[in-house]
Amino acid sequence: MKKSSVLLIYTGGTIGMINDPETGALKPFNFGQLFAEIPELKKFDIEIDSYAFESPIDSSNVSPKIWVQLAKLIQSNYQRYDGFVILHGSDTMAYSASALSFMFENLAKPVIFTGSQLPIGTIRTDGKENLITAIEIAAAKENDQPIVPEVAIYFEYALYRGNRTKKISAENFDAFDSPNYPKLAEAGVSIKYNRSAIRKPKKELDLIVHDSWSSEVGFLKLFPGISEVFFRNVLGQKGLRGIVLETYGSGNAPDELWLQNALKEAIDNSLVVLNVTQCSSGRVDQFKYETGAHLEKIGVIGGEDITAEAAITKLMLLLGDPSLSINDIKERLQENLKGEISC
Ligand code: ASP
Repeated sequence: MKKSSVLLIYTGGTIGMINDPETGALKPFNFGQLFAEIPELKKFDIEIDSYAFESPIDSSNVSPKIWVQLAKLIQSNYQRYDGFVILHGSDTMAYSASALSFMFENLAKPVIFTGSQLPIGTIRTDGKENLITAIEIAAAKENDQPIVPEVAIYFEYALYRGNRTKKISAENFDAFDSPNYPKLAEAGVSIKYNRSAIRKPKKELDLIVHDSWSSEVGFLKLFPGISEVFFRNVLGQKGLRGIVLETYGSGNAPDELWLQNALKEAIDNSLVVLNVTQCSSGRVDQFKYETGAHLEKIGVIGGEDITAEAAITKLMLLLGDPSLSINDIKERLQENLKGEISC
């Protein structure tokens, strides 16, 4: 049987750092030496090629331009490999994994993001296990079909759907969670796949990449005491086309008249407003309380159980598509496009 093949893409982040033997300082890892640094990889019966970004980045510097670069790289190597592993800083990994999940149409192969809290060159690194298992998952097949044909994040013995994740810790190895969706797999002595939670690709169609983004968006997080001036200034910004409104509990906001009027005026002026909850789990239900019902009435879109990371990237990609009208965008926001919402 033909060996599985995986393309390992290094974008930057802590995982790819190694201590310089002379200075002791952390510097980007030379991917030509990957097998020397991680001899365990040689034991795999998997063909692994690597591609490193010319200038590796801290993931705080990620942008839609980089998402397009990544998606196109995968698209141009799609036939050649069985799966893809993206090494990426953990800080914005949930945004990048969400973004890629929305960019790909007809994805039928694994795209597994991973990284680490400690550089791969340090003794207690979590990077080796993360990398080794991510490669194993990207290559895993059953009846000659990939087991995880979707964009996912592997971190600290768990595999999550990419567009359901949040970074929840800046220091624990266990840095990610997907509070509203079950883990896709857990790695122990063996990797246990949660098959019913994994997306099934519809058919073998060509991989399409949606690549036009709009950055004319923003977050607006409510807090008790938020002022009308601040609220109106945010909504009234020139060029703004979409807002992710971060509300309380199940999607509730003060029902003060000034807030209702400010939102209604903005929506009447074509601003798309998507309601997500500030809670880390649970869902928006704009019918549950009066403080949510007034938002529903004026045309705020309920974001269901979407994460803020998935909400903003979904909104940016939809607004970037010139073929979509405002009504199309509002409809798509309520649809489960890539497993990002349960409805
Ligand atoms: N600041 C780093 C980054 O996101 C942290 C990490 O790699 O986990 O690039």
